Parts: sequence; C-alpha cells; structure tokens
Amino acid sequence: MFESLTDRLAQVFQRLRGKGLLTQADVEQGLREIREVLLSADVHHEVVRELLGRVRERAVGEKLVESLSPAQQLLLIVREEMTRIMGGEARKPRLSGRPAVVVLVGPAGGGKTTTAGKLGQYLRKRGRRPLLVSADPERPAAAEQLAILAEKIEVPFASADQDPLSQLPQILARAKKEVVDVVIVDTPGTPPGVPPPAFLSQLLPSITPGDVLLVLDAMVGQEAIRLGQAFRPLGLTGIILTKLDGDARGGAALSLPSRLGLPIIFVGVGERPEDLEPFEPGRMADRILGLGDLSGLVEKLKEVGVAERAEKILREEEFTLEDFLAQLEAVRRAGPLSQLLSRLPGLSRPEESEVEQEFKKMKAIIQSMTVEERRHPHIIGASRKRRIARGSGTTVQDVNRLLAEYEQAKKLLRELKRGKIRGGKFPFPR
Ligand code: GDP
Ligand code: MG
Repeated sequence: MFESLTDRLAQVFQRLRGKGLLTQADVEQGLREIREVLLSADVHHEVVRELLGRVRERAVGEKLVESLSPAQQLLLIVREEMTRIMGGEARKPRLSGRPAVVVLVGPAGGGKTTTAGKLGQYLRKRGRRPLLVSADPERPAAAEQLAILAEKIEVPFASADQDPLSQLPQILARAKKEVVDVVIVDTPGTPPGVPPPAFLSQLLPSITPGDVLLVLDAMVGQEAIRLGQAFRPLGLTGIILTKLDGDARGGAALSLPSRLGLPIIFVGVGERPEDLEPFEPGRMADRILGLGDLSGLVEKLKEVGVAERAEKILREEEFTLEDFLAQLEAVRRAGPLSQLLSRLPGLSRPEESEVEQEFKKMKAIIQSMTVEERRHPHIIGASRKRRIARGSGTTVQDVNRLLAEYEQAKKLLRELKRGKIRGGKFPFPR
C-alpha cells in the first residue's frame, strides 16, 4: 500500500534530515519536492495546494519544539495536515436503527458486492447480526455472488432482486421481528459516464438508511472523484475505498474526502472477507509517511487473540521471552507476517520465506533456553548465549539479535501503555 508515495516522501525527508538546521529556502525546497511527489501520486491539485498552503503557514509561523529537529517538526506538521485533509477524526458507521440500514452504491466493479460481504463479516465479528440483501433487478448473477459470500461468512441473505422497491421494505419489516439488527444492501453499479440506476433515487428514501456509502476503487486515483460525483444526488453519507492493497500511490485516499466532502469510513485491503479496516485519517497519514502503524498492529493482535495477553502484560509490566514467542507465533498465524511487520516503523518488507525462516530461528533460540532464562532474560550472559546458540544451531549474534528485538518489543509495549504512541507523539525515524 502506497509504496511509491511513501518511498518518495521518505527521500524528501531524508534529505531534509541531513541538514540539521532548516532555512526558509530549505523549507521551500522541501515543500516543492513534496508537491511534486503528491502530484505524481495522482493527488488532486487543489488538495495539494490546500495541504501545502497550510503546512507552509505553520512551518513558518509556529514556534519550534526544542526536542524535535526542524525536519522532524516539518514531518509532524505534514502528518497533521494530511490527517486533517483526510477528514481528521475517524467516523464510525451509523448503525443505530432497528434494524440499521447501510446501502452500498457506486460504479460497476468498484467492489460493492465484495464489500457487502466484508462488512457482514466485520459486523458479525463484533457481535452484530447482519443480513445481506441483494437489490439488483438487472443481473440475476449479482444475487448469486452475494448469496455465496453470505454463506461463506455465515450471515443470512435475502434477495430483493425481483422488485427492490416493494421487496426491500418487506424485508426490513421482517428483519425487525427477527434477530437481524443491521441490513446491508448491495446495489447494481453503472459503467463510468452512465448515471446511477434510476430506481435507487426512489428506493433510498423509502428505506431511510443510516448510511449510504459510496464504494470506490482506489486504483483509479483521482478519477474516483469524477466517478463519485455522479452518485452525489443519492444523498451519500460516506465512502468505502477499496483495493488499497494494490494502490501504490494514495491519490484517491488523499483527494476524496475533501473533494467529495465525505468521510472515508472503511478501506478494503484485499479480496478476502476479513480484508476490511476502519479508516482512521491519522493512521493513514502515518502509513503514507512511512511512520509505521502501531495502533493498527495492536488491533490486529487483538483480533487474533493476543490482545488479552498483551493487555495483561501491559498491566503487570512484565513481558517475558515466552510472551514474546507467543506474540510472534500469533502474529505469524494472523496471516502474511510481512504485511504486519511492514507496519512497524524502521522495518522493511522482507520476503515471506525469509520471514518464515527468521521466525523458525527465533523460535529455536527461545526453545533452547531454560525456563529461568525465558522468564528472566537479564541472566543470559556470554556463556549462556554460547550454549543457547549451540543448542539452537544458530550463532551468538543471532541470540543477541533476538534479545535486542525482544527488548525493543518490550519498550514498544511500555510506550503503548503510556499512550505515547497515539496522538502525534509518534517516535520519529532517526
Ligand atoms: P461491484 O461491481 O462493485 O459489486 O464489485 P465486486 O464486489 O464484484 O468487485 C470487483 C472485483 O474487485 C472483484 O474481483 C473483487 O474481488 C475485487 N475487489 C474488491 N475489493 C477489493 C479489495 O479491497 N482489494 C482487492 N485486491 N480486490 C478487491
Ligand atoms: Mg456487484
């Protein structure tokens, strides 16, 4: 996600960091470079202008914080303004009705049907009882695609394809009596340049949705703005931006909220039902700027059940090598490890097999330790290190590296606990 944008921005800040003290001319030069990077990432020119205008104003006017270098200061300002331009605060889906109704609309191929399934899965995992409804009177195959998804994620499905206008209100009335508390409605899309299906403007008022979400493909870049405009008369309340996993540039994520005046509520990051994430502007800015994504990592750990453990560890201020191993193992189970590791600041994206090998090595090292050593790693001196290395078929350097990584994880947990990582006080890359 955003590889090319992130890499190029990192280069700009790298150059600035080399300078120590920033003159007005350095700042101007830096802003010019950022501007170029953003434009080539397909960010809308108005958005670039507004963003950099604010950054310039602040970079010149604000008093420097002493603990930060000027380059870090500028990075912090860019991060904050990027967050603001993407909507500032995260906006939660509106799910308060009984049943709550969420309608997905948007151009063909944007990912509506897939997202309906993802949303069903997302809500079910959070204790809601969703129902997926297909409302596509044109294509019988549409209902089938959604029905298959529904079955896969074990969420009930209903079709309103025959006559959505009369069927949907009936389905909602029935849902009210049953256990369903959220109804997710999938609708047909139209090709670019063709207005949305006419029946939608009649349908929407009759079912009073909490959210009418515009589903757009991030890979089309700022073209998404024009595609989205066509759907505005439907009374949109937010955006779901899909295919971010394949988007190296980030133009759509940065441009859409301010250009369409709508918050992004979720992003799609893959084709599987679990590949949906709530959109948090600050976190997205961190990712774009290569500052890692620690809060996202913690959330992911929560999903795979490490959170309880992590919280316990945080409460007790104790984090042993056994915990470290359990955490590594859980992260590995959570899916592509490299995907998770890429969220940590300072870590590059290693190849999957390398990661696997590294994991096996770490595991072997920890398993070669005595219980005492795992629980009290500080007792591991030179001779113990040699024994552990021999026992695990590794080297003393490997053992040292593992211990260093363990220390780093421990430090990270401590910082998370103190809440230092949220809210802008992000540890900056060196
Ligand atoms: P619809 O026409 O708007 O209903 O679009 P579909 O839900 O049928 O999706 C079109 C294609 O995009 C399908 O092949 C999906 O698997 C794919 N797709 C949807 N969301 C994502 C995503 O977040 N990432 C990736 N890589 N593919 C996606
Ligand atoms: Mg569809």
